[in-house]
Amino acid sequence: MEKISDIKTLTEEELKNWLKEVGEKPFRADQIRNRLFCGQVKSFDAMETIPAALREKLSANFRITSLEEAKRLLSEDGTVKWLYRTHDGHHIETVLIPTNDRFSVCVSTQIGCAQNCAFCRTAKMGFIRNLEAGEILEEIIRVNWYLEETGTKHSDGSLAKVTNIIFMGMGEPLNNLEQVHRVCCTLHHQKLFNLGRKRMTISTSGVVPKIKELVDRNTPCCLAVSLNSTNDERRSAVMPVNKVWNIAKLLEATDEYTKRTGNYVTFEFVLMKGITCSEEAAKELIRICAPRRCKVNAIVLNDGDDPTLEAPSPEEIENFLEIVRKAEIQITIRNPRGRDILAACGQLAYNTTEGKNKC
Ligand code: SF4
Repeated sequence: MEKISDIKTLTEEELKNWLKEVGEKPFRADQIRNRLFCGQVKSFDAMETIPAALREKLSANFRITSLEEAKRLLSEDGTVKWLYRTHDGHHIETVLIPTNDRFSVCVSTQIGCAQNCAFCRTAKMGFIRNLEAGEILEEIIRVNWYLEETGTKHSDGSLAKVTNIIFMGMGEPLNNLEQVHRVCCTLHHQKLFNLGRKRMTISTSGVVPKIKELVDRNTPCCLAVSLNSTNDERRSAVMPVNKVWNIAKLLEATDEYTKRTGNYVTFEFVLMKGITCSEEAAKELIRICAPRRCKVNAIVLNDGDDPTLEAPSPEEIENFLEIVRKAEIQITIRNPRGRDILAACGQLAYNTTEGKNKC
């Protein structure tokens, strides 16, 4: 095998097959994966349970790390944002959002994004490539390294570890479903990260056929959908994906998801002045949500690069929330985190033309 792949990308089966190919015992796959994901070792040499000859073969065929820290920014509110250089010279961002005993990591799944949502800085990068499962897992492992280095503790005194994963960084996760599925399976694996499915949330702009595929694959995760508008004309104006799969098709897919998985869907709703934060939009949102098992996560627009989009005033936000709450729709407003370091929703981007991070 050519040395092209991150070893963390391989499934157990693929690793066993490779071991057989190179004349090694397949049971070594368990030991290797244990060192990679439980030990979270930084080099093949640190895999002390693996014989030296096999460690050499591994190192001749695979990368154990694919990312390099290019920049780290700390927000006043405790949020941390990393800029990572990938092995082929591109850049991605990862964000840690600590809240009491919860250490949530927002991971990137692609370099850039093709979805072109108007309110998103990543969209301005265009699409460069999908991330490998190993690269996405490394985003999480590197946060665990950071928590260990900084001696961060849970309230019971134990060493803090990443507790929740949100696939909401750069990229459309469902456009990279094969790799995202691998990541979720590794995170969910009892002997590896052992994270429950409710601790992982995939957020999509609404790639309808992939929502169905997610259910077919039984990917261990929750589903969030970036709805943002309740009217096709307005949604298409800010989310071009709506021109391919409109709101009716999207809701058909989320209804099927709820029916087949028994899980509710979270609708994300970015509040934009005069577009999505109005009395009319609140009423349309009620019409969509009232007959469904769902939650709404409202997010106030963050400053992006589009001067035509504006955040609503606190009064407009309150008015919107009151109308929706009166209809007994479960709606929460997400506190923006890491705004000062451009780590908040829709703010992740790497300026490739200037060759430096915009933050
Ligand atoms: S909001 Fe998400 S799907 Fe839309 S362009 Fe940005 S990264 Fe892509």
